Amino acid sequence: MQGRVFTIEKECTACNKCIEVCPVDMANRVYKSLDRKRKIAVNSKYCISCGACIKICDHNARDYTDDTEDFLWIWQWGILSISLSLHRPR
Ligand code: SF4
Ligand code: SF4
Repeated sequence: MQGRVFTIEKECTACNKCIEVCPVDMANRVYKSLDRKRKIAVNSKYCISCGACIKICDHNARDYTDDTEDFLWIWQWGILSISLSLHRPR
């Protein structure tokens, strides 16, 4: 799976199922929402986007966004910028 997994805060009931199935210790973090309810967010620094939490969440509180196009766009502009800087007259 490519992309980024995230929590839909209003749907999360803090049932902890996502933490139980997650193969990465630090990929989930507990926090309190503005209305002081316990929630579980994805820590994208550690998440490997395996999708296990999306499958197990009964509340549809986990979803995924495909950022491949964003990555390719940034990558192409990076290559173009490097090419332009290398061909600039000195
Ligand atoms: S499994 Fe879903 S509802 Fe349960 S804590 Fe995780 S994100 Fe929230
Ligand atoms: S996608 Fe996988 S690694 Fe990321 S939080 Fe969910 S279960 Fe953990």
